[in-house]
Amino acid sequence: MIDLQLHSTASDGSFSPADLVFQAKEIGLTAIALTDHDTVSGVPEFMDAGRRAGIHVVPGVEISVDTPLPNHGHMHILGLFIDPQSAGLIDKLEYLQTERNRRADKILEKLHGLGLSVTREELLAEAGEGSIGRPHIARIMVRRNFVGTIADAFEKYLKKGGPAYVDKVKLGEEDAIALIKDAGGLAILAHPHLMNFDTFEGTREKILALREMGLDGFEVHYSGMPQEYSEKLLALASEYDLAVSGGSDFHGENKEGIHMGTGTGNLDIPDSVYFQLLNRWQNTRNTGGRKK
Ligand code: AMP
Ligand code: ZN
Ligand code: FE
Repeated sequence: MIDLQLHSTASDGSFSPADLVFQAKEIGLTAIALTDHDTVSGVPEFMDAGRRAGIHVVPGVEISVDTPLPNHGHMHILGLFIDPQSAGLIDKLEYLQTERNRRADKILEKLHGLGLSVTREELLAEAGEGSIGRPHIARIMVRRNFVGTIADAFEKYLKKGGPAYVDKVKLGEEDAIALIKDAGGLAILAHPHLMNFDTFEGTREKILALREMGLDGFEVHYSGMPQEYSEKLLALASEYDLAVSGGSDFHGENKEGIHMGTGTGNLDIPDSVYFQLLNRWQNTRNTGGRKK
């Protein structure tokens, strides 16, 4: 079993990169990827711990993408096997961090206007070294009894379209994919069903457009993805020679009910998914993809 979407304290997960590795080792996972939001700052610790634990560790990142989508859908693109030292990548991610902090301030202003005051200091303390995200704000809101649970905080205030929601500054599709490829990684569309297209045809068209921009594949193994939908994705992958990935999207205690490896309970991603991705990555490097 493998898990190629994990979040650490480097962004909005509750466990350190090394802790994620220890837990993965304990439950017997073969391969894991660290995919923090808009940052690779946890990658060195993760790789180090992985080597010592003797499990396959994939350096990754999850980038939020700006593109028009229906029904408050959102698009995230994962970079797997990226080089965390890539200057272009680090530069762009730093810019996104600055914008994230600015956005967090705006969310706090909105909450203040709703009579729910959280200070900047509290938020910085909550995020620690990590890149600030809405889950950090949600945690504080729970602690203060503004809401009962993290899910409540999103449902009532923080979700897209909610009264305290503020858009993030994001890269465009083409830029995000190019950034990942220039950093030597595979560009993988995360949880495609969350783009919220009304029909599969919408998903299909979007994926084929992304493929023209260099997309390597997409997640198919993900808790909550309707089975009929994942079957259609698998067919699309084989029709267009796109790679398949998957993960739990584990955030530790910051996302209730999601477990490493098993997701909401039934996820069980075969090792072959990892080895196929590894193979593809090695091939793109040998045949000189965009770089190297
Ligand atoms: P941000 O990067 O600040 O936009 O926050 C995105 C993070 O919030 C992602 O990691 C999501 O998993 C998390 N998130 C989004 N919606 C919810 C929800 N309803 N309950 C818990 N976490 C959520
Ligand atoms: Zn997250
Ligand atoms: Fe995501």
